[in-house]
Parts: sequence; structure tokens; C-alpha cells
Amino acid sequence: MASKEYKQMIQRGKWLEKFLNPKLKSWGYKELALEFIDIYQVYFEFSKNDKSIEFLVEIEKKSEYYKCDGIISYNFDVRIQKALSIKQQINHVFQAIISTSKPWGYQFSEEKEMSSQEECNNKYELPELYNRLVKLMSVGEDGLEFKRAFSFGTTLSLVAVTGKSLYDFFPWDVAAARMFFDFLLLGGQEYFLFCKYCGNFSVIERKGRKKFCSDICKTRYRTSNLT
Ligand SMILES: [Zn+2]
Repeated sequence: MASKEYKQMIQRGKWLEKFLNPKLKSWGYKELALEFIDIYQVYFEFSKNDKSIEFLVEIEKKSEYYKCDGIISYNFDVRIQKALSIKQQINHVFQAIISTSKPWGYQFSEEKEMSSQEECNNKYELPELYNRLVKLMSVGEDGLEFKRAFSFGTTLSLVAVTGKSLYDFFPWDVAAARMFFDFLLLGGQEYFLFCKYCGNFSVIERKGRKKFCSDICKTRYRTSNLT
């Protein structure tokens, strides 16, 4: 019987698989946000009209941003930019993990040499984002209490500057970083691949020699190699 950790690992991997899919539609984003809130019992009021979603869907329709290595510069709110670049960052680190035989933690170690600014950003930003999801502390009868539900932490200095919470829309970067690390911490290193046909990140439920995300891609790959 599959262990609890295994099930959680696959669940988080599947979340990432959908999130990293370039064809994700707006209803898909909504499902992912609600699923995240449910899994982590996050204290966040998700609006069905969350404005990050329309931006993400629009931009993905127009560009191939995560396939190029260039620095993304869009004229949007910094949080929208983060929601976009987090996909590229996570894809990049997964690719790096696959391309070396080392344990995944190496990507975040002191000895890892950084060959680009992008790698440098990934190494430091992703763990920092993970820490933005914090337990809620409040004053209770017996002193300070931690509520079970988590909250998306805020950066005080930025709140002071803008005068409002950073999270008036769903913080995809924090959520994705949490899913990313939890997937790996639960043993995900040997349970993913990049499809040989479409290139998409895909979770596999059994370790092995699988090379495609689906039977459709497998067939298409074979057909295209016959002609
Ligand atoms: Zn595929």
C-alpha cells in the first residue's frame, strides 16, 4: 500500500505538472488556487475574479516566455511578474536536477557553482519564497498561540511603502515554491520527467524508464520518427 508521504508527493507533483503546463486555462488556475488553499489550510480569501489569472492566461497565449533564457521584463505589477517567472525558475531547477546525478539539495548548496544570474536567483529566491507561508500567531488565553491554518506572510517594508497587503491576488510564487520543495522533500526526485515529445514537466507514479508525459505524446513521437 502506498504510504502517506508517497501520496502527498504525487499530489504535489500533479499540482506542479498542471501549473507548469503552458496550456493551463483560467478554470485550471482557479482549481489550483483552491486546491492549494485546501491542502495547506491557508488563510486566504480567494476571489473567483482574482486578477492574476486573466494576466497569466493572456500572457501565456501570446508568448513562449518560459522556453527562452532571457530575463522577463513585463510592465506589470511585480507580483504578476513573479507569478510568471516562478514557472521558469522551477522548470530550470527541475532540468538541472535531471541533468546531474546528484541529490536535488545540491542545487541549493554552497558548493554549487552558479554559471548565470538566473541560477543565482533560483538558488536564493526559491527557499526565500518557501518561508513566506507562515503559521498564524495570535494572543490566546495561555499566551501566544499558533493557529493551524497558514497564512501568506507579508514583507513589512513593502507594506509600509504601498500601504496595502501584497496579497490582494493569489501569490502564485509562494504557493508554487511551497509545492516545489514539498514535492522534493517527500522524495520526488525520481518521480518526474520532461516529455521527450512535448517537453512538458510530467510526474510519474513509478520510477522507471518512462520518457513521455502521455500515450498521445508517445504515439506522436513514434509517428514523427517514421516519416
Ligand atoms: Zn508530452
